[in-house]
Amino acid sequence: MSYTMVEFLAHAIAMEEEAAERYLELADMMEAHNNLEVQKLFRDMNRYSILHRDSIKERAGSIELPTLKSWQYRWIAPTEVGGEEGFDYKLDPYQALEYARENEARARDFYATVAKSTDDDEIKKLATDFAAEEQEHTDQLDEQLSNTIRLQN
Ligand code: ZN
Repeated sequence: MSYTMVEFLAHAIAMEEEAAERYLELADMMEAHNNLEVQKLFRDMNRYSILHRDSIKERAGSIELPTLKSWQYRWIAPTEVGGEEGFDYKLDPYQALEYARENEARARDFYATVAKSTDDDEIKKLATDFAAEEQEHTDQLDEQLSNTIRLQN
């Protein structure tokens, strides 16, 4: 797949926006579970996503960004808790971390694929940076997962 800069930025903004929204929901869910540690991690992730989205928006400036289809950026929920229909279900902390981890890894893979397949040096540099950032998020979630008790299978 080959992206123009505008398409790439639109995609990145939509992904960060989606991540910000999902992390906010997950943080609220963790509050209901009284899990302050995981709640804090999700609130931090929400903040990072908003900061990242804003910095990409700034870079995009006043150019007109294309509208994307939801399947191009929406997070995918684990099938056992309802697929893509959103959050009318409850995740326990472990499931919530796994869910976030899967989607961070998808974002990382997306950026890594773009970085590998583009001929545009500027897109390659951005995509490489973004992939590294998503790898960091994935690592943070892995670390929290290893400290979190699995309640269900
Ligand atoms: Zn991320």
